[in-house]
Amino acid sequence: MKIYFLKILEIFYSITLRDIIDILIVTYIIYRILLLLQGGRALQIAAGLIVIVLLYFISDVLQLLTLNWLLNTFMSSIFILIIILFQDDIKKALAQIGKPPFTKIQTEYSYSIEEVVKAVTNLAEKKIGALIVFEREISLKDFLEGATILDSKITKELLISIFYPKSPLHDGAVVISKGKVLAAGVILPLSTNPDIAKDLGTRHRAAIGITEITDAVAIVVSEETGYISLAVSGKITRDITPATLRKMLSQLLGFKSKAPWWTRLSHEIQKGT
Ligand code: ATP
Ligand code: MG
Repeated sequence: MKIYFLKILEIFYSITLRDIIDILIVTYIIYRILLLLQGGRALQIAAGLIVIVLLYFISDVLQLLTLNWLLNTFMSSIFILIIILFQDDIKKALAQIGKPPFTKIQTEYSYSIEEVVKAVTNLAEKKIGALIVFEREISLKDFLEGATILDSKITKELLISIFYPKSPLHDGAVVISKGKVLAAGVILPLSTNPDIAKDLGTRHRAAIGITEITDAVAIVVSEETGYISLAVSGKITRDITPATLRKMLSQLLGFKSKAPWWTRLSHEIQKGT
C-alpha cells in the first residue's frame, strides 16, 4: 500500500509544465470533437466506427482470421473515410480555428437590421414564405451558383417584392452580405439532421442546413403558419416576435463596436486613405 502511495507521489512530482500543457491541449481537442459530434448524424457515424474498431479487436483476440483481415483492410483506409464522412464538420472546425480569438462575432459592416425586420414582419402578417440568410465571417459565395446576383441596397420594399409569390425570384433564399442584398433565388444545402421536427419542410431545413456548415444566420417566414424563425449554428428558434428577432439579430450580427480593436483600427486607416 505504502509503495503504491509512494509511486503515485513520484509520478505526481515528475509532472512537468510541458505535460500539463500537453494534457490541456488534448483535453481541449477532445472537448471540441465532442461538441462537433453533439447530436445528429455525426454521433451515429462515430458510434458505427467505434463498433467496427471494437469488432476488430475482438476478432484479433478470438483469432477470427477472415473477419480480422476484412476489418484490417477497412481500417487501413479509416482516416480517409473519416475525412470524407466528416468533411462538413472538419470545414466548420477549421474555419473556427482561423477566427480571431476572443471575439465570437466580428463584423465591419452594420447591417440594415431594421429594414429586414420590417420586411419580415410584413411577410409574416401576409403569410408569404421567405428565407433570408446573413453572411458573417464565412463567405457564402460557394452557394450562389444558379442564383440571381442583385448587389442592391437593403430595403424593406425590395425584400418584400422578392418574396412576393408572383415574383420570378421568390423561390429559394436571399443572401445578405456586407450590408447589401447580394443575391436571390439561392439554393442552400438541406440539413440531414434526423432530430429536426417533422413538421418543418425544406425551407426550414435549408435555413438549418446553411447554419450547420457556415456561421451564417438565417431567418425563415413560414408560408403555412406565418411564424418567424431564426436559425444559427444548426439550431432553429421557432415562432419569435419581430421584437425578439430584432434583438437576436443585433446580438448575432453585431456592430462595429463589437469588432476587436485591430479590425476597428484597420477600418479607420482604410477610411482615412
Ligand atoms: P413553409 O412553412 O413556408 O411551408 P416548409 O419548411 O414547410 O416552409 P416547404 O413547404 O417545403 O418548406 O417550402 C418550399 C419552399 O422552400 C420552396 O418553394 C423554396 O422557395 C424554399 N426552398 C426549398 N428548398 C430550398 C433550398 N434548398 N434552398 C433554398 N430555398 C429552398
Ligand atoms: Mg411547407
